[in-house]
Amino acid sequence: MKLRRSAAAAAVVFALTATATACGGESGTAGDKPGGAPSGKDAPKLPTYTVAKDVKVDSPTLKKAQKRGEIVIGSKADQPYLGFEDTEGKRSGFDIEIAKMVAADLGFSPEQITFKTVDSGVRETSISKGQVDIYVGTYSINDERKKQVGFAGPYYKAGADLLVRKDDSSIKGKESVKGKKVCSIVGSTPLQEIKKPQYGAEVTELAKYSDCVKQLIDGQVDAVTTDDAILKGYAAQRPTKLKVVGKPFTEEPYGVGLNKDDKALRDAISDALEAHVKNGDYKKAYDATLGLSGSKYAEPPALERY
Ligand code: GLU
Repeated sequence: MKLRRSAAAAAVVFALTATATACGGESGTAGDKPGGAPSGKDAPKLPTYTVAKDVKVDSPTLKKAQKRGEIVIGSKADQPYLGFEDTEGKRSGFDIEIAKMVAADLGFSPEQITFKTVDSGVRETSISKGQVDIYVGTYSINDERKKQVGFAGPYYKAGADLLVRKDDSSIKGKESVKGKKVCSIVGSTPLQEIKKPQYGAEVTELAKYSDCVKQLIDGQVDAVTTDDAILKGYAAQRPTKLKVVGKPFTEEPYGVGLNKDDKALRDAISDALEAHVKNGDYKKAYDATLGLSGSKYAEPPALERY
């Protein structure tokens, strides 16, 4: 599909691009949905976001981005329905929508966003070194991380759960991982949790979620632990092979990560999140992304401004 991009058509172009992304259409084996992308004409539509003009915020990060004419947003690339990059480089998922709505309120169109894949283990470094302006990627707010980065949010609440092979009935919850091989991700909170001696699990630590899932399918590990929202995406992608146990055992409130001292930007992002919840974009975006993986919609948690 070729469309001429005039300023007047920009919003329409974005709407069409977003729909095309949502329709996915990647190749792959039957029942295998690489991006977890919705398909069919009845698939819920993604919202479009009005790009704010002449944004003035006393934020060093934002001023730099404005000068550059683009905002660099860190995200995940291997989390279907949340933060996924397909083989053509198209990003989709709930976190990608959160990123786009926040960027729009900061004055950046989708064409002015550069997404950069940043895995869990290097998020704090990447943010504090200014390699990304903001970060949107299943990033749990906690006090330990707040020593290094700032957070706007929370905009969603997940909880650590377990992903197992469909035919495995031996793992029913956190109490049954004793002696089991459980994979999780370097730098993630569920990894810290599952390593606690009380669980008695044999833990494998990898850098990417998709690598843990591959090991699970191949039988090298017995379970993958991380947030339920992420795991449901993988299970929805391979419904014949995988299932989520469904008993979350931690609280994972997602925030937008940013420079620790940039309070002005933090406030502006919180304002943006609030506005898009109020105008319905948040729910619409959810329904067209994460909602399709079996994660039920819940009202977003109250923002914690500081
Ligand atoms: N939400 C958890 C965390 O921030 C797990 C997901 C992730 O690694 O992004 O550590």
